[in-house]
Amino acid sequence: MDLRQIEAAPTDAECAAVDAVLGAPDSAWDGGARGSQRDAHTASFGGHETRARRHLLLPALQAVQARVGWISEGGLGYVCRRLDVPPAEAWGVATFYAMLATSPRPRRTLHVCDDIACRVKGALAVCEGLATSHGAPVTHAPAGHALRVDHGDACWTHAPCLGLCDVAPAALLTIAGEPSAERSLAHVTIDVARAALDLPRTALDDGPLRTDGAAAPYVGRAESEAAGGLRLLTRAGRVDPTSLAAYRAAGGYTALPKALAAGGDAVIAEVAASGLVGRGGAAFSTGRKWAAVRAQAVTPHYLICNADESEPGTFKDRVLLTEDPFAIVEAMTIAAWATKCEHGYVYLRAEYPLAAERVQHAIDMARAAGLLGERILGADFSFDIEIRRGAGAYICGEETAIFESIEGKRGEPRNKPPFPVSHGLFQKPTVVNNVETLANVLPIVLEGSVRFASVGTAQSPGTRLFCVSGHIAKPGVYELPMGARLSDLLRMAGGVTGGRGAGAVLLGGAAGAFVRADELDLALTHEDTRAAGLTLGSGVVLVFDDRTDLHDVVRRIAAFFRDESCGQCVPCRVGTVRQEEALHRIAHAQARGGVAGGVAGEVALLDDIGRAMKDGSICGLGQTAYAAVESAIHRLGLYGPATRREA
Ligand code: SF4
Repeated sequence: MDLRQIEAAPTDAECAAVDAVLGAPDSAWDGGARGSQRDAHTASFGGHETRARRHLLLPALQAVQARVGWISEGGLGYVCRRLDVPPAEAWGVATFYAMLATSPRPRRTLHVCDDIACRVKGALAVCEGLATSHGAPVTHAPAGHALRVDHGDACWTHAPCLGLCDVAPAALLTIAGEPSAERSLAHVTIDVARAALDLPRTALDDGPLRTDGAAAPYVGRAESEAAGGLRLLTRAGRVDPTSLAAYRAAGGYTALPKALAAGGDAVIAEVAASGLVGRGGAAFSTGRKWAAVRAQAVTPHYLICNADESEPGTFKDRVLLTEDPFAIVEAMTIAAWATKCEHGYVYLRAEYPLAAERVQHAIDMARAAGLLGERILGADFSFDIEIRRGAGAYICGEETAIFESIEGKRGEPRNKPPFPVSHGLFQKPTVVNNVETLANVLPIVLEGSVRFASVGTAQSPGTRLFCVSGHIAKPGVYELPMGARLSDLLRMAGGVTGGRGAGAVLLGGAAGAFVRADELDLALTHEDTRAAGLTLGSGVVLVFDDRTDLHDVVRRIAAFFRDESCGQCVPCRVGTVRQEEALHRIAHAQARGGVAGGVAGEVALLDDIGRAMKDGSICGLGQTAYAAVESAIHRLGLYGPATRREA
């Protein structure tokens, strides 16, 4: 089939950015000289090699974005020619991700989070201040509808949760150029935001989270230890995360030799016996998943560390990745050994620049020390890891969406079956584990499954990381034995800010549910939350005081799902829009004095929509998009009398 190529010419900067990822053009297929044929369509070799590099499409687009600040038609065309990708497909990918701009944009962009945690900590005032001083926020406008850029070399945009809820309100500053720069900003005020937009770049180089003197993330190690839950946070905030020697001195890289000596089957048996289940939200048995991949005859096998935590309110994986990156590299190596994987990816969300830097450094150090690469520690085992960064898409935390994203396609989830253990990345057997899940592998290998299961409950063994944020005195990451009470966790975190009462707690994130103030005695286990019609999800504990406008919070959750739906299936694509519309109609009705019957009708409609999304959506996003709204209606009684009083 003929390809219709884009005629617009790329700039030198765009070509340089793409070539830095792909190398110089080689065969006639990708614009080089190899082969004597007249053009790409008649070249006899090089086509397969070129198309086999499709997985580099997203990194190439990201390189243009980072160098220039947006992807022009010429830049997109150059990427298409280099990879032999039809322009329509590349356009589909470029417009899928929120961090890629396909219309002119200044080099400096401030992404201001206005999601739940930041919202209740003052983000809206920051946005209003910026709108006054720096104009309207940019949007993800398609080419041909170019934005007017009229405030110099900087602009700002709203952003969904940046995974910085512990230091809310937060923002991410990206500065395109060579080299490009990214900075996470904590405790953002309007002055901090204006300074980030206006200051010379050199003035920002005082630390990734410290533009206003903000402290590093709070790791509740002492509180966790007192509660008997300290396993995963032993090094975080205490051991230099950039030093392999320091990691080793703190007990690091003792689990890997033990695992190599024991053999892969023994490691899997121990992990299975521990009862460890995935900590990303799905809670599937890690041992069963590993055994299924190990048993696959097809090769190669792939391992993916899912570090795309994008659930609003979640930031535990960020803390593990930035504060204890060698532990994740070591755990991935053990997982690869047990499941016969040859290559691993850390699929890391775009909004975590410090994590990208620290994990890359850890990979490089491990490789230099012979802990990655060929014949690791002399064993008949070779394994290496590379980082693939997302580009701003919540749905790419779904395991099959990660495969699509790495393969250079839109991050749209696949139908299952077939399951990833047999048909995953590049249709090969693939293990996908969350960061916290992997971190648990080290204590299991070192101390054994019995010791691991001695903490927690029979059905929920081990500890759990909780991301506590919102109206709470000491927001941060806490590690508790499974079975601890939600009220105890809130006490550990200093209680509700200002001594106020709790209005509600959002447990499990936007895909989770609200807990009432009279339900805080809830035991934090899979079985207890399930029995109460709740979920632990990804460990989100977002606290709202008794003055919070929960209607606004619920509408923000609905807007989040409407925005993040990949649009692939109708129940989710249409349902998330209709859900948000109904909530806005309720708000208007209530503002006008409210007709109870009208609100009841909207609630009935919301129930209908929610059922359709739950029953008819392909993936977890659509299936859970109504969960928090449903709990606000039926558990909190936000729009009328509550109908469910579980727990
Ligand atoms: Fe996409 Fe939503 Fe369907 Fe998932 S449920 S595949 S996010 S449209």
